[in-house]
Amino acid sequence: MMKLILLGAPGAGKGTQAAIISKSLGIPTISTGEILRAAMKNGTPVGLKAKEYVESGRLVPDEVIIGIVKERLSEEDCANGYILDGMPRTIPQAEALEACGIDVDTAISIEISDDIIFDRITGRRLCTTCGAMYHVRSVPPIKEGICDTCGAALTRRKDDQPETVMVRLEVFHRDTERLKKFYETRGKLVVVNNQGSIEATTALISEALGVNL
Ligand code: AMP
Repeated sequence: MMKLILLGAPGAGKGTQAAIISKSLGIPTISTGEILRAAMKNGTPVGLKAKEYVESGRLVPDEVIIGIVKERLSEEDCANGYILDGMPRTIPQAEALEACGIDVDTAISIEISDDIIFDRITGRRLCTTCGAMYHVRSVPPIKEGICDTCGAALTRRKDDQPETVMVRLEVFHRDTERLKKFYETRGKLVVVNNQGSIEATTALISEALGVNL
């Protein structure tokens, strides 16, 4: 039973590492960003509410996020643990988790400098059909623009444009970075410096968690 939170700036590699940990430990990843993108694609009420925030790089209101996560965590596949990717992003979100008895074991903060983030994010490509992630240089698909796993066309996230990335970084430094302190005070924080390769970063996380990933 492992309940993890992945903290870190946009582009730090949270989604990539979450996918690896999830596969290796057999626990689901709850990515609020992914849930919101799916809701937007399907035009649900949550999606309609979230759209303007997500597309401009600002945070979706806490109550919307808390509702989504509470509902998702009550599903059966979360009974043996889970990875929260991109939630909490504010102190009220972290407090809301505690208030409803959601007690995580470890919050892993993946550290990365702002200047590396730009290169990372502008090269990022996503399969909106199966959720697989790529990078034009570091993790290219076999056939350009096509998902290796499901054959669908790869897209670039609308909020991965440079101006929006600037806003997301500002939001990260203003609202989200302080969560490190929040989990440090509770003795739950583990800091991992992002490495040059995905494998090397996974190795550090593996060591920090004391599990084989
Ligand atoms: P991500 O895929 O984690 O980078 O999230 C993409 C966007 O979804 C963010 O820039 C926010 O607009 C929104 N979002 C995702 N998670 C949260 C959250 N926990 N709180 C508020 N907004 C969120």
